[in-house]
Amino acid sequence: MNVTEQYEKMGISKEVAEYCSRVEDSLKERFAAIDVLAEKNQLKVLKAMQDNKLQEAHFAPTTGYGYNDLGREALEGIYASLFETEDALVRPQITCGTHALNIALSANLRPGDELLSPVGKPYDTMDEIIGIRPSNGSLAEYGVTYRQVDMLEDGSIDFEGIRAAISPRTKLATIQRSKGYASRPTLSVAQIGEIISCIKSVKPDVICMVDNCYGELVEEQEPTQVGADLCVGSLIKNLGGGLAPIGGYIVGKEKYVENCAYRLTSPGLGKEVGATLGITSLLTQGLFYAPSVVASALKGAIFAASLYEKLGYEVFPKAGETRHDIIQAVNMKTPEGLCAFCHGIQAAAPVDSFVVPEPWAMPGYDSDVIMAAGTFVSGASIELSADGPLRPPYTAFFQGGLNYAHAKFGIAMSLQKVVEECHITL
Ligand SMILES: *Cc1c(COP(=O)(O)O)cnc(C)c1O
Repeated sequence: MNVTEQYEKMGISKEVAEYCSRVEDSLKERFAAIDVLAEKNQLKVLKAMQDNKLQEAHFAPTTGYGYNDLGREALEGIYASLFETEDALVRPQITCGTHALNIALSANLRPGDELLSPVGKPYDTMDEIIGIRPSNGSLAEYGVTYRQVDMLEDGSIDFEGIRAAISPRTKLATIQRSKGYASRPTLSVAQIGEIISCIKSVKPDVICMVDNCYGELVEEQEPTQVGADLCVGSLIKNLGGGLAPIGGYIVGKEKYVENCAYRLTSPGLGKEVGATLGITSLLTQGLFYAPSVVASALKGAIFAASLYEKLGYEVFPKAGETRHDIIQAVNMKTPEGLCAFCHGIQAAAPVDSFVVPEPWAMPGYDSDVIMAAGTFVSGASIELSADGPLRPPYTAFFQGGLNYAHAKFGIAMSLQKVVEECHITL
């Protein structure tokens, strides 16, 4: 049986399957370049593990206070090596990316300080942390003000605006690498470096923090290698490699990471407490897999972009563009199109393939959101998943794929559902 026949047995028409393989044939060179990136990043991760003498004893579970958790210290050492930073905080007690960002901001800002976003409005869940939308416990309630400089019409960085926005009160700049749910382009690591130089040229002591969600291992360098003082992300995205069951990380300069530890646990306790409950092996093995998982996700994103672009849908980034994160946005034009796309991703999943996702109000988001995620780790978006807010232009944000075969099949299934539910012809 050839693959097209197997696809047919799994609900994908011959027409869709053949269209997919034509698209795939056109991507051989792109995919080869991604394999080279994955190899380089794999060696970086391996070296970080060897340099920190990762050993079997580190996988022993700890409980209670978790004093002297050697595995936790090794894992944090590995992250610090990988990002070339002084220190790292990598913990299962950090519940998600939003939590990690909240820790990094609230740990390093004090009443009277100003927070600057130099690249437009940050990710939706940041609204309530900052107080862009009034919220109990926001930074605004603690007297931290917020200022934002939008990117220019053409998607470039407003350096002049950034310089003008820095005041003596500017304490921290939050730079979001990935576009999130916005339609601006994702920043490259080089661009992040330029923004940081610009900010530091006006006020050298501004803490430059990067929300690194979805960007890890997509390039050969990370933002901490171009001047970022702090870098923050989630372990159920890129760096968990699909194996991490929970967690977040914060890497950077020792004094800022230390502030984060005091905020996460308690003043006085800091990094000294925090049992790992036996998941250190999953967090390290996940990191070990991460370069190849990220490569699969990138291939899936490029495949999806090519497939939908050829059918006349607007896609961000465009099929031919260089990638700076694993997210692919496809404007599905109608609510039905967005839902059909998500139905296909869900139907292709290894877990919960039989359920049909529906739009719903989600905490932290200001419009209904539809989410497709048939994942082993609940909500893990390094696994094949798609989501999108139900507002024009009905963009499906698609990401992940633990391996390429599954990413490809999921995208094929999304197209199958779009063909069936929206009656388009190929
Ligand atoms: C995912 C993400 C976050 C954090 O989201 P969580 O769901 O809380 O992990 C923050 N910023 C960006 C850009 C993201 O993609």
